[in-house]
Amino acid sequence: MNFYCDSHLHSNNSFDGTPTVKEICEKAISLGLSAVTVTDHMEAPEILLGEKSEYGDMVKQIKKSVKDVESCQDIYKNKLTVLKGMELGEPMHNIQLTKQALSIADFDFILASVHNLKDEQDFYFIDYSQINVNELITRYFIELLDTAQNADFDSLAHLTYPFRYICECTDLDIQILLQENETVIEEIFKALISRGKALEVNTSGLFKKIASTLPDAELLKKFKALGGKYVTIGSDAHQTENIAQGFGVGLEIIKKCGFDHITLYKNRKPNLIEI
Ligand SMILES: [Zn+2]
Ligand SMILES: [Zn+2]
Repeated sequence: MNFYCDSHLHSNNSFDGTPTVKEICEKAISLGLSAVTVTDHMEAPEILLGEKSEYGDMVKQIKKSVKDVESCQDIYKNKLTVLKGMELGEPMHNIQLTKQALSIADFDFILASVHNLKDEQDFYFIDYSQINVNELITRYFIELLDTAQNADFDSLAHLTYPFRYICECTDLDIQILLQENETVIEEIFKALISRGKALEVNTSGLFKKIASTLPDAELLKKFKALGGKYVTIGSDAHQTENIAQGFGVGLEIIKKCGFDHITLYKNRKPNLIEI
């Protein structure tokens, strides 16, 4: 591999991650990666609950994540670039708490995610047989548009995230759901482009029933056609064996969609890396 960076990785400072930051670095070096960005979870609205959050004390977890990254920057200097990121969930649900989350450290990279709509469960836990899926998906894209237009972040994570689960629990046609939301998806891309933000290509979906990157090649082509410039690539690994998983396919898709570069963020500034 050339200079490739995995820009979406969870350590054991995420409630659902297992590797230490050191283990992430060792694995990345063995795979020939040049950089990793650790993006542990911060569901901003949960800050209010502190230790009582079902995810644990997320401020404490992010502080520890940052500290671990800083220590690995020393250990692996000259071998691997180790960057401070955060996966900022639901940035539009509580602006004040989002600001607080962003002020925890001088991050290199902020990924914005929507894992759940306001007052709803994570899409992972929803029983899709009991709800109006079309309505839920429309609300999802509208919230992503609000995020793309207004939130403070660098790259929009795993666009089409709910589809990963809808695919596993229903026989709904995902392409039809996408067509129904075509206009708002275009608005999301236009907002990213006009604000100089990146779109993430998340390779985790390649190994799920959905069997595609999130978003898929068709959407990525649309982003490019509208003038999209910045694309980040991330495995969303929560275990060491999944680091950079699917990058061969993911990078091919990015190239086929017309991009010559991926983007690596340092000090929240985009750096283009030829692919
Ligand atoms: Zn996520
Ligand atoms: Zn993630």
